[in-house]
Amino acid sequence: MKKVLVLGAGQLARMMELAGTPLNLDVKAFDVRSLKVVQPISPEHIYGDLAQGITNAEVITAEFEHVAHDTLAECEQSNKLFPSSNAIKIGGDRRLEKALLESCNVANAKHFFIQTKEDFAAALASLTLPVIFKSALEGYDGKGQWRLKSVEDADSIWQDMESFLKSSTTSVKQGIVAEQMINFDREVSLIGVRSRNGDVAAYPLTENHHTQGVLSVSVAVKVDEVLQKQAAQVFKAISDELNYVGVLAIEFFQVGNQLLVNEIAPRVHNSGHWTQQGADTCQFENHLRAICDLPLGSTALVRPTAMVNIIGEDTVSDEVLSIPSVTIHWYNKDKRAGRKMGHINVSGENELVLAQRLSALSKLLSQSAFPDLNDFSTSYLNKHS
Ligand code: ATP
Ligand code: MG
Repeated sequence: MKKVLVLGAGQLARMMELAGTPLNLDVKAFDVRSLKVVQPISPEHIYGDLAQGITNAEVITAEFEHVAHDTLAECEQSNKLFPSSNAIKIGGDRRLEKALLESCNVANAKHFFIQTKEDFAAALASLTLPVIFKSALEGYDGKGQWRLKSVEDADSIWQDMESFLKSSTTSVKQGIVAEQMINFDREVSLIGVRSRNGDVAAYPLTENHHTQGVLSVSVAVKVDEVLQKQAAQVFKAISDELNYVGVLAIEFFQVGNQLLVNEIAPRVHNSGHWTQQGADTCQFENHLRAICDLPLGSTALVRPTAMVNIIGEDTVSDEVLSIPSVTIHWYNKDKRAGRKMGHINVSGENELVLAQRLSALSKLLSQSAFPDLNDFSTSYLNKHS
């Protein structure tokens, strides 16, 4: 039984444990709040502190990129950490991430780094409104972002950002990245995996729908060879550059036939949860295979599948389970407004069947916990009827 330690004890570690158990992998997680090693699916079981966790593990990985740098350093020293601390840190700092994209020559939105009012003015002079500002560190689910649509609001946005920067207590200096807002046709992501010996495999591109910056629906798209190839090339360039091991997600804006990278996530990703029911090998298993130096599993699509996030609710109608090929995944988290509490995967033997099931599902669920589902299922049904 190979022992794996995950930095972070949230739902991604939980789903790694669920996927790793049949492979005889023993997955534990380091809870960065309590600083204890726990069992991801039953966190009341405590196995000691980080030092003990590192000693006991044969392989260490992370479920999120905002891990304290001293923790990463301690893990890296053991030579058990995959992906490397460098890759994890890049994913956690938008400035390093943009620099990586530039060095890999990968298309992305025009951007500037901002620390002062002068930088802010210079960025505005070179970008066209609307512009989006993102905190360099600690952003997730659209948090730490400001959108500037009209020039009259520039002063008040700068004041907000300035007080945000001043009140920051991060160990690395906080900053802001100003980015050109892209008028995209849609958002897609590529979930790929790279093994220790450099083999790569990628899942079919996933189309993503966000509500107020939070992912609500992801669906594996019918493979478009041109886009898939473009995305796979970006994955190869970035993951080779980082000598990456494990699952890496790349979020893109699609404009016509061009993909611009929005951001990367050095981990399993919410937009890859559909792989649990829609792919030959799910992203959690493939991540574990990669870091444990096992052969990668097939990333082929088994059947059209969509995922919908459950946001801020801890129950859904039992009726949901009467729809064929629906699977519910709860995260066992305390209910909080806006929080990702679980997700539902839905599959169909073809897109029309999937569309019909999504539409049946949307009738059973509340708009607040499932923003976008109604709109998405209607348009998906129109597209595939
Ligand atoms: P998550 O954790 O969900 O990935 P995040 O906080 O890391 O989110 P981003 O992915 O950078 O933030 O932004 C969240 C969403 O905001 C994007 O998915 C997209 O819908 C929108 N967005 C971000 N940047 C841009 C941009 N340059 N142009 C247009 N829309 C954008
Ligand atoms: Mg994102």
